[in-house]
Amino acid sequence: VRGLSAARPPRRAARAAGLAALALAGAGGAVALLRWRLWSGPVPAPLRVALSDYFDPAELSRNRDYRRGVWAMATAAVPVAPAVAIGVALAGRRWRPAVLGLARGRSWRAGLVFGVGLALALTVAALPLGIARYAWGRRYGLVTQRVWSWLADVGKAALIEAIVLGLTGLVLAVLLRRSPRLWWVGLAGLAAALIYGVTLLSPLVVEPLFQKTEPLKDRRLAAEVLDIARRSGVEARDVKVNDASRRTTTANAYVSGLGASRHVVLYDTLLRDFPRDQVRMVVAHELAHVSRRHVVKGATWGAALAAPACVALLALVGWRTGFSRPGNDGEGADLVLRRVAVVAAGAIALGAASAPLGNWVSRAYEGEAEWRALQVTGDAGAAIRLQEGLVRQNLGVPDPPAWVRLWFGTHPTALERIGLARRLGR
Ligand SMILES: [Zn+2]
Repeated sequence: VRGLSAARPPRRAARAAGLAALALAGAGGAVALLRWRLWSGPVPAPLRVALSDYFDPAELSRNRDYRRGVWAMATAAVPVAPAVAIGVALAGRRWRPAVLGLARGRSWRAGLVFGVGLALALTVAALPLGIARYAWGRRYGLVTQRVWSWLADVGKAALIEAIVLGLTGLVLAVLLRRSPRLWWVGLAGLAAALIYGVTLLSPLVVEPLFQKTEPLKDRRLAAEVLDIARRSGVEARDVKVNDASRRTTTANAYVSGLGASRHVVLYDTLLRDFPRDQVRMVVAHELAHVSRRHVVKGATWGAALAAPACVALLALVGWRTGFSRPGNDGEGADLVLRRVAVVAAGAIALGAASAPLGNWVSRAYEGEAEWRALQVTGDAGAAIRLQEGLVRQNLGVPDPPAWVRLWFGTHPTALERIGLARRLGR
């Protein structure tokens, strides 16, 4: 980088700054449009409730100790991937000759090698905090998974990341080589296709690598699920139970997939440890996600924001490497690879920085699912006892600090969910 900024033509910087401003305006416009057209339905503000009415503050002290550790590790993990990707891009002169040699000068092969290599670097860099989180969970008794099985999961996740980043690197290198002006349009399209594709395929391809699911065996519960589904206006043939107890004592449930691949998965720990009326509330919450199409809406936020993000990446590439067309020689292949690394660093940094935006959207959908579930079950008491039980079982904190809600808060807090249930009683 030495001396480069002095030599960088001011016109290039001005053009990059203009593009960055355009990206920012585009992102603002997209957020405004999505907020207007793709937001949750009306949800009342939760009643303000006192923590001590529902929880024993002394009992919560162990939960707070546990969560403080989790939050510290999660916070420390936020800059890890961006730091690795930026470091790799800045140290390009050291590794680009080797990668180009391995790829025998072909850009697409260089992109593939780079993507796989970056995935490995990200996995290795994430490992220390991953181990710390695993050990912390074991210490508090929440994690039951054996260390070899946990390492196998890390390996499988790394393999998936290597495949996705390798193929993305390959396509990106081809786009940068063939279309120096419009590569960012292709990348935005690829990102959108990847977001919908992963959402669609996750229940079929990814989730089975980490868990087994089976249909609901309990016939009474299955009949209740059908009844809740009918009242929610959705089908429920795809409600399943997984084997979460092999990994954790925590209770949870989720919905994933699109169209034919969509399913609702209840943790076996939830069925094992929670009374039926509370399980019904969880089922109603998940089916509200289905009826309000939250999965496809969430994917659409990501796909739509990929376009302004790619304009920002175009600005970054122009600022760092100029806007010139790469030649068909070795120098051109080197320039393409350099740009691939800049795009990867920018994309990973943008992804990390957008967490508060994603959580803001998620909290809106979660609030809507909770409110509709309350209306379908009409059982505010069960909803409140469920929150109390989840805090106890998952070592939760009902009132996390504002910075935790901003960076990691995908759901309304337990206290807010209790306040929402109290709203139903009014
Ligand atoms: Zn939910």
